[in-house]
Amino acid sequence: MKHRRYFCLLTFLLFINLIYADEQITPDVLMPPSVKRGGILKAVVVLSRSVNDILLEIIKNNSTVLSAHAFRIGTIKDKDIWVGLLGIPSYMEKGMYNIRITGKGSSKIFVYKANIDILNVTYTHEKIALNASLSKLRSGKDPKVREQTEELIKLLNTFNSGSIFSMGVFHKPVSGIVSARFGDRREYRYYGGEVVKNIHNGIDFAVPVGTDVHACADGLVVFAGKRIITGNSVIIEHLPEVYSLYYHLSAITVKKGQMVRRDGIIGKSGESGLATGPHLHWEVIVSGAAVDPGELCKNKIIDKMNILSIIERQ
Ligand SMILES: [Zn+2]
Repeated sequence: MKHRRYFCLLTFLLFINLIYADEQITPDVLMPPSVKRGGILKAVVVLSRSVNDILLEIIKNNSTVLSAHAFRIGTIKDKDIWVGLLGIPSYMEKGMYNIRITGKGSSKIFVYKANIDILNVTYTHEKIALNASLSKLRSGKDPKVREQTEELIKLLNTFNSGSIFSMGVFHKPVSGIVSARFGDRREYRYYGGEVVKNIHNGIDFAVPVGTDVHACADGLVVFAGKRIITGNSVIIEHLPEVYSLYYHLSAITVKKGQMVRRDGIIGKSGESGLATGPHLHWEVIVSGAAVDPGELCKNKIIDKMNILSIIERQ
């Protein structure tokens, strides 16, 4: 009898838990039907209920290929507006993928599903011959290089939900001739004959040593220092998991922890690290993937006014 009472109580509690845990809500989601590889998939989620986390995933054959956390950019009509930015790597295979957006509070609040078409972009191929010292630098099994690479990957995958410093159009950090484009397929020919394939993840500007380098957008300096491969380097955080990188500088004029404004000077160009001549390498990483920085110079990364007017009209 006693056991039966406990069983009834347990069933009742389980029932209550099911009602609340599975209380599903349907968010409004704004998302394009397609995105180019090397671009950014932008998803806007509008919710009438507060959640702790929204995860945006691209799925192929039931496994997650890419993922990014969304962040809250404001409120309209008592609804929260969240934005998820997912960087699409230039090597991603074109075609249809599934999208899953999951909202979580103390339990799972919603799961939204859609499809996305990843469109092809054709990249150019180039061959680069490296002299003996550059070959050694690039092919060497220096544990310090590996350590620095691991530190960089960790930094660029750091998600800080409150780091909302810039939603505007990016400006080019220097004006100069583009000597290597984003997504170039490279073939490094090492001294001694070995050939290694690589993808160029940024844009190179051929500028003389000592040219002023400007921040592409407002942000927080999260790295300012010397690295073996990339030389004197600066990394700026602009949004959660959105970073711009500036390599091979001859001088750095900012410090880690400093806020910078768009067009503010952060250093001078050079040829430090693994460089075959004076140039600035400029790169943008979104949710861990290198994206085409040139695209960010055309439109605002988040057009808040446009998002608000679309929601207003709904
Ligand atoms: Zn480069």
